[in-house]
Amino acid sequence: MSASRRKPDRSSSPWPQFPIWGPAERTQLLETLQSGRWWYGPKVHRFEEAFARFQGARYGITVNTGSAGLEVALLASGIKAGDEVIIPPYTFVATATAVVCVNAVPVFADIRPDTLCLDPTDVQRKITRRTRAIIPVHLAGHVADMDRLNRIARKHGLFVLEDACHAWGSQWKGKGTGALGDAGVFSFQVSKNINSAEGGIILTDDEQLAQRCTSLIHCGRVAGGAWYQHERLGSNLRLTEFQAAILLAQLTRLERQTLRRQANAAILDEHLSQIPGLKVVPNDPRMDRRSYHLYVFRIESRRFGLSRDELVKALVGEGIPVSPGYPSPLYRLGLFESVGRRSPRLEPFAAAEADYANTSCPVCEQVCQDAIFLPHTALLAPARRMMQIVRAVRRAAGAQTT
Ligand SMILES: *Cc1c(COP(=O)(O)O)cnc(C)c1O
Repeated sequence: MSASRRKPDRSSSPWPQFPIWGPAERTQLLETLQSGRWWYGPKVHRFEEAFARFQGARYGITVNTGSAGLEVALLASGIKAGDEVIIPPYTFVATATAVVCVNAVPVFADIRPDTLCLDPTDVQRKITRRTRAIIPVHLAGHVADMDRLNRIARKHGLFVLEDACHAWGSQWKGKGTGALGDAGVFSFQVSKNINSAEGGIILTDDEQLAQRCTSLIHCGRVAGGAWYQHERLGSNLRLTEFQAAILLAQLTRLERQTLRRQANAAILDEHLSQIPGLKVVPNDPRMDRRSYHLYVFRIESRRFGLSRDELVKALVGEGIPVSPGYPSPLYRLGLFESVGRRSPRLEPFAAAEADYANTSCPVCEQVCQDAIFLPHTALLAPARRMMQIVRAVRRAAGAQTT
């Protein structure tokens, strides 16, 4: 097609709306409504089984949020006050606050520049006598290097909790996320690839761990115990039947949607990687499925000719829904502000005694300056619309030279 016949990009044409729902959600929800079984029942348990099977884990324990799931899994692992947990600083704040809220201490290890996931070499450096767990985050759906992280964990007797809150459907050497470490946590909050407004699940192959998690989310009750028999310090973190109804319907679309996101991401990879000054996040060959909660690419401003924020502004101006992503490493958030070598905002927890002022993860700091996030919803658009994104980037690159 000649340039003159090519239709102009219409910034007004909308990107796919999210969440996506249809007759499956309607049927499931009405069934729950009319049955009168609204509370923690058959649909919750059916979804737990179905999602665990989808990811290849033996047990699934639903929770009311992904944040709560991280806390419960850490508590179930036997974490104690003041234990150290190694996490990446390039993630949603919940990865860190979950550690703080179980009275453990987050220790930040840097990310790798190619995968944007936890760097096993830096994890190794951050291990001390007090280290008890590692939380790899499968950022944007790219799986962290679980071979090396598991090897390090085994050597030092550490619990590996996958933060898979971006990674529904991602696989590493044929195995699903959440089934790669000792346990894995997923979120079903409204912005996530499969959602019920709020919700989450913990996956594990360990039966005892699964039982402890079930007890912790169910007021400390035990299987086969009486209603007012409480054996543990639990809370009420249960999912409702309405949420499970929606999730059962959403799960029927997850595979198809994941394949579409992957195909569209491959188009973006192919074209964006050819533009001088842009870098994509390539697939680790050991990863055979990638959820693409986000499509992340990086800009080297000097070569590209625009700053990251200028490019984001130009793309948003053309109706492309990009953002600069996480603005700073977590340890630079006000939450971790150091006063007199302590972190008073983390009171009353053990982490308040830690001092994050000298924490430095140079790769993460760089990525916070040069990454651009495109949400997974845009990857559900027809393939031809990926070229609209590519053209908008090329135009932005060309604009400053003319
Ligand atoms: C969304 C998210 C969480 C927390 O999930 P909620 O369900 O919102 O509590 C944790 N970690 C990461 C990386 C997330 O993106």
